[in-house]
Amino acid sequence: MVQSPPAAAATRAFHIVTLGCSKNRVDSDGMDHLLRQRGLTAASRPEEAEVVIVNTCGFLGAARAESVSVIEELLAGRTGDQVLIAAGCMPALGNYANDIPAGVDHVLTTREWYKIGDVVGGLFGEAPEPEVAGCQGMLTTFTRAEAGPSAYVKVADGCDHNCAFCTIPSIKGRQVSKRPLHVLQEIVDLVNQGTKEIVLVAQDTIRYGADLGMKHGLPQLLEMIVEQVPNLPWVRLLYIYPSPLTLRMVDVMAEHDALLPYLDMPIQHADRDVLRTMNRPSDIAMTRRLIDHARAKLDGVVMRTTLIVGYPGETDEQFQTLYDFVAEQKFDHVGVFTYSPEPGTKAVTLDLAAVPAGIAEERRNAIMELQQGISLGKNQRLVGTTLQVLVDAIGEAEDDAGNTEPISVGRARRHAPEVDGLVFIPGALAVGSLVEVEVTGAGPYDLWAAAPGTMPKHAPAAKARRDVAAAARRRRGGEARSPRATRPERHGPGRPVPMATPAGT
Ligand code: SF4
Repeated sequence: MVQSPPAAAATRAFHIVTLGCSKNRVDSDGMDHLLRQRGLTAASRPEEAEVVIVNTCGFLGAARAESVSVIEELLAGRTGDQVLIAAGCMPALGNYANDIPAGVDHVLTTREWYKIGDVVGGLFGEAPEPEVAGCQGMLTTFTRAEAGPSAYVKVADGCDHNCAFCTIPSIKGRQVSKRPLHVLQEIVDLVNQGTKEIVLVAQDTIRYGADLGMKHGLPQLLEMIVEQVPNLPWVRLLYIYPSPLTLRMVDVMAEHDALLPYLDMPIQHADRDVLRTMNRPSDIAMTRRLIDHARAKLDGVVMRTTLIVGYPGETDEQFQTLYDFVAEQKFDHVGVFTYSPEPGTKAVTLDLAAVPAGIAEERRNAIMELQQGISLGKNQRLVGTTLQVLVDAIGEAEDDAGNTEPISVGRARRHAPEVDGLVFIPGALAVGSLVEVEVTGAGPYDLWAAAPGTMPKHAPAAKARRDVAAAARRRRGGEARSPRATRPERHGPGRPVPMATPAGT
């Protein structure tokens, strides 16, 4: 039942700053929905809002430092009666709740974001009222006020694993899955608003539905989506933990064109003993079988993985095992992170020698250089082929003489939002359209393309490419902060990397 918002709330504006990963982004979308339901309006800048919410990331020390600095900046600039709320993962970490700067008016953990309406009302002296969104706690289903070409849908939250380096289980608790009908409702709402790509996310997406008693929950959910939402062209999965459950999922993916042949399987390492001390699946032969199965079943499958180097006790030989595995498997996209010791995790208690930071950095650079060559070769082989691209944004490209022209920025089926490459196409194509383009140029990450039968006058200059890419990310990410921290493969070897250890799975 839709209720009339309180009169005072109708005049108030809110602004949300989202830090961290795609799962946080979804929670921010949910808070946005609940506050609009209460009659508040969204402000595009914090100085225009009576309520400012920072949805923090607490996964790593660097992320927590960024959260604190953003809050301090907002506190320093706040005016009048503006209230500031710290939400998200950082307050959920008992050790760090006290690090949230003084002056914040309310703290809301990542498991409480759906209470935002009453929290804001309470700060303005209003009585609590029933949620108007049919609230179901952390997994509340909601309709986005604005939907773009691509949207993340969180199908579960929390994690039942205990990887030794990871703080997520202590932040989020055990996995809780959203019921299939609620996932479908959210997807139908998005598609009705014009969204073309749904990216299903969770901490451990392959285990979707296990807590609901579903044996093969994710394959079942995928079949429901394909059947119930036949006008959805792209469905992408992220964060597939290496598990035999992947086999059935791949079989279902092979049957439906809308299920993109894209497998994001973070393996973290390839040495059995390192994996054991990480408390990860250590049977690398099983991981090979999963990869082989995906390659056999899914025509042109694109493989992404993430790796950790410099884990405690990692020897030169163990690193070499990982390096050889990357050389052998030739993944399409690889994120390499240096280990970050996080208080409260098992890894910091291990009686193993720490790897000096300089060596960890050298190992990261070595794998990145290796992967850049692999990725460049794969991208170069795409030149002259036709790809389907989803247009995310329009920007402006500038040549060396200072002439500008519009340029469309999109992604092919092989590119997940934010973490993979982009496709640049001269001309202004409709944002949200799916177009067939011919690849005309390739770098290690990005591609250049043109509508079939046309050729670009020139490839955009490097500066223009960066500007356009940033514009595309801003458009996709709304107020999300820079994704640089979670895509280190975008930095050349030897350049500083702001963060370490990947976010999840
Ligand atoms: S790394 Fe992923 S699978 Fe492991 S505990 Fe963290 S969230 Fe769970």
